[in-house]
Amino acid sequence: MKESVLTDKQKEEIREIIEQQIQEADKELKVLKELTAAVEPDSSIGRISRMDAINNKTVNDAAYRNTRTRLKRLKNVLEKVDDPDYGRCVRCGEPIAFGRIQIMPEKRVCVHCSK
Ligand SMILES: [Zn+2]
Repeated sequence: MKESVLTDKQKEEIREIIEQQIQEADKELKVLKELTAAVEPDSSIGRISRMDAINNKTVNDAAYRNTRTRLKRLKNVLEKVDDPDYGRCVRCGEPIAFGRIQIMPEKRVCVHCSK
């Protein structure tokens, strides 16, 4: 059997981080969805003009797509934490710094390969 990059304790920690980030991304997605839906001038967007609303919608649409992609990746990676290769860079095969995994658990490449 192949040796894991992360210890069981580290995996446990990462799993909690991922679950927390999924919850946050989920919440963010709901807010963004409401924002992107609110483009009618007489809707609840308050005093901002319709032009502003349209500009905001473009920004919010992009944010919505980014968050949705991230959420998908987080859910995907949650199933991979137990994989012996999780924590190892998929490009160069070196272990990824634990601090990096803690911040961006959905990234599968090390800091050198991400440049
Ligand atoms: Zn690498």
